[in-house]
Amino acid sequence: MAMAMEKDEIGALLARVPTQCFIGGRWREASDGATMPVGDPASGEVIAEVASGSVDDATAAVDAASAALSPFAATAPRERGEILRRAFALMIERREELAALMVLENGKTLSDARGEVTYAAEFFRWYSEEAVRNEGAITTAPAGTNRILVVHQPIGVAVLVTPWNFPAAMLTRKIGPALAAGCSVVCKPASETPLTALAIAGLLAEAGVPEGVVNVVASRHSSAFVGALLADPRVRKLSFTGSTEVGRLLLEAAARRIVNCSMELGGNAPFIVFGDADLDAAVAGAMVAKMRNGGEACTAANRFYVEASVADEFSRRFSAAMQGLKMGSGLDSETNLGPLVNEPSRDKVAELVEAALASGAEALTGGALPRGRGWFYPPTVLGGVAATSPILSEEIFGPVAPIVAFGDEAEAVELANATDLGLASYVYTADLARGLRVAEALECGMVGLNRGMVSDPAAPFGGTKQSGLGREGGHEGVAEYLEAKYIACDW
Ligand code: NAP
Repeated sequence: MAMAMEKDEIGALLARVPTQCFIGGRWREASDGATMPVGDPASGEVIAEVASGSVDDATAAVDAASAALSPFAATAPRERGEILRRAFALMIERREELAALMVLENGKTLSDARGEVTYAAEFFRWYSEEAVRNEGAITTAPAGTNRILVVHQPIGVAVLVTPWNFPAAMLTRKIGPALAAGCSVVCKPASETPLTALAIAGLLAEAGVPEGVVNVVASRHSSAFVGALLADPRVRKLSFTGSTEVGRLLLEAAARRIVNCSMELGGNAPFIVFGDADLDAAVAGAMVAKMRNGGEACTAANRFYVEASVADEFSRRFSAAMQGLKMGSGLDSETNLGPLVNEPSRDKVAELVEAALASGAEALTGGALPRGRGWFYPPTVLGGVAATSPILSEEIFGPVAPIVAFGDEAEAVELANATDLGLASYVYTADLARGLRVAEALECGMVGLNRGMVSDPAAPFGGTKQSGLGREGGHEGVAEYLEAKYIACDW
């Protein structure tokens, strides 16, 4: 094993990372002194105790964000951009440390974690550039009686709730545009992975974010904590990334005070391979679309639809590539697949595979729980999956690829669209006209055409149907934190 960090280095890193609530620019314990454990998925051991914010802490965070809002909204856009730019530079400078922290609390591999830090930092760079491009409009009213002026103003205090699978990027994808727009924020990271978020809070303070503009509080009472935030009349925005199930609950809660919502929810991405596709490229793309983050990605390819003429050959090559992955602790630099985040996630993956096997699927590779500690599940490819198997309709969130053969283009599109979710899709074909035709017919927010990855800070990321509302990244991302004001003007 080639471990990237020795035990004492890990201890030193964990000793440096803040574990308190970050409110109004200060670190403090939870108001009731409560803490919660953070575990290492590779060993199941507790690696840190983090302050668990109470409802009082939620109110204190809104107090701080509310007090900071007006001065920050009035800051020169260039100044806000420069702060974000410094945050970008600091993240890149600390890539190794942040990456190691994510491996420790999330289980992902070091190379995935390094990639995530870079991706996460790019949101700060992109929005440092967007901060100075808040454009308005002046037009003449059609009747010619007056002018119509449109300005875009910061929406106000924003609550940002993030998941554990990308602890850095899901946070910066929200903080970047919020700060570019001139909003202050209260962030609630996932209980599984609060350390990365707290480290980013410290880094933002170093970059010059004024006190109270960014507040970060973890809480094991997520429902009561976020409920208190949404009930506070000073909160004007909720941006949530997580499961569709929790997103639905938060939309209901937000409806009471008509809080503006952006929702990045679950996915069930189809990966379609046509008979004319370059199969080597399709397998390489499938490895990225399925195995980035060990399959724990909302954009993860969840269902593989392969044209019957190449289904066996694709399955053979893809299984061989999956079999070649080395499973182990993410800190081992030779590891290509770390553990799943926790025991329930690992058990859910195992149950879905067992159900698929029981209904006639065949494990071309993997498919059995390994022995030993940690929440590991092996790379698995399933052939001959029944169209009714639950594995095709549930978000697997693990390293498992079910393959279904299809007859023609119409059938592929019909199978791909047979879901309530619509986040990402992938299409492999040598025929660009067909690729674009299919991309337009797919009911989803993003399509990878001959590409296994869609995430890019410069592009609008988001879903249709029950995968979400709104977009993050691109020019669109900042609009989620701005409100248009129209001034009917006579001069
Ligand atoms: P989750 O269970 O929905 O949790 C997400 C966040 O919501 C966490 O901070 C969690 O806090 C909090 N939360 C949970 N229950 C809550 C409640 N009743 N009230 C208020 N807050 C609550 O999702 P997850 O398991 O962390 O993440 C996996 C899901 O996220 C997958 O479905 C994945 O597809 C989706 N995801 C979507 C995108 C996207 O961009 N569309 C990106 C990444 C992930 P606690 O941890 O403290 O419970």
